Amino acid sequence: MAKSNQALDCPCGTGKKFEQCCGVYLSGQELAPNALALMRSRYTAYVMEDQAYLQKTWHASTRPAVQLDQQESCKWLGLTIVAQQQDAQHGTVEFIAKYKVNGRAQRLHEKSNFVLEDGAWLYVDGVFPDQ
Ligand SMILES: [Zn+2]
Repeated sequence: MAKSNQALDCPCGTGKKFEQCCGVYLSGQELAPNALALMRSRYTAYVMEDQAYLQKTWHASTRPAVQLDQQESCKWLGLTIVAQQQDAQHGTVEFIAKYKVNGRAQRLHEKSNFVLEDGAWLYVDGVFPDQ
């Protein structure tokens, strides 16, 4: 079950309230209008453990067959967008997401690829510039 935090500031860091930001996409009211908005909403879905949204926004060719097994003790701390590019049907977003596992701070630096398919932006895959 997804956690409900309607009155909170959106976890993705825009400074907007959740219900006026990624909440619109997580609830299915609207589709994310671009790759960056989708990326932000997927980060928020990780924070709120909204597995259904993560599955829905993952391209069929790369989507994991089983639900992501998110670690109980994983706490997401914030999202920083490093760079983004987009044309009519493809987008990339480079970001740094900070989180803690078992009390230890970690950092995910990823450049994600997105594609527009049937009017919806989808996450395809990512590369890790630090590795
Ligand atoms: Zn948001």
